[in-house]
Amino acid sequence: MSQHRPLGRRSFVRTGLLTAGALFLPAKTTTSASAATNSGLSIHDRASWGAAKPLRRVQYSGQPPRKIIVHHTATPNTQELDLGRAYALARAMQHYHQQALGWSDSGQHFTVSRGGHLLEGREHSLRELRRGEVFIIGSHCANQNTVSIGIETEGNYCSSAPSQTQYAALVEMCAEICRQYEIAPGEIFGHRDFNATACPGDVLYAMLPGLRSDVAQAIVTPCGAWQAIGGPTPLEELVQSAGPAQGRWPSIY
Ligand SMILES: [Zn+2]
Repeated sequence: MSQHRPLGRRSFVRTGLLTAGALFLPAKTTTSASAATNSGLSIHDRASWGAAKPLRRVQYSGQPPRKIIVHHTATPNTQELDLGRAYALARAMQHYHQQALGWSDSGQHFTVSRGGHLLEGREHSLRELRRGEVFIIGSHCANQNTVSIGIETEGNYCSSAPSQTQYAALVEMCAEICRQYEIAPGEIFGHRDFNATACPGDVLYAMLPGLRSDVAQAIVTPCGAWQAIGGPTPLEELVQSAGPAQGRWPSIY
């Protein structure tokens, strides 16, 4: 069955409290207070990696995103896992998007480095994520930019998989977006679901069903900033929402 409406934040919170402990996943260590989101997840903002100014003013969606689209950068699978490398990647992507492609700014909202570092992409993406209301219109997936958040996963996953560290960071990034914008985990897709592209690579694409399930579990992990303000929602409903929303998937591939 398809999910008619995204699960509400209230449902996530309530479910998390009901199942506290059983589905606990370790939280990512917060390394920078200035980069923390509502749940304490550390996302390095643009100032930290030295972003250039957008070439044009960013545009606001006027509504929350309805889905998450996962990409890979198709860059080499480097073993440089430090934060400096992640910053350099963010700068390089912005430079490429602005100077070679003529875009106003980084096309993606967030990036997950090979070392598992999370970074803000397009200007104000992190600020709006914290607010959980509207988002900045990105440039990452044709015909989906006004309804989706784009995540770039560093590396090339046509024939190899992300490390456990990087995958865990991707789970946390997706879970944070789902929490803040009340997106059901079943609404996580790969770029190739919408455009004729190999992105995010055969291997990472094949991992998306598992990613949806893992994000569903991460969402019900209790978060300190959340409070029980809603009625109970059966856990089963949340878990089922992690599966593909049959009938709503595009048929490009
Ligand atoms: Zn892509």
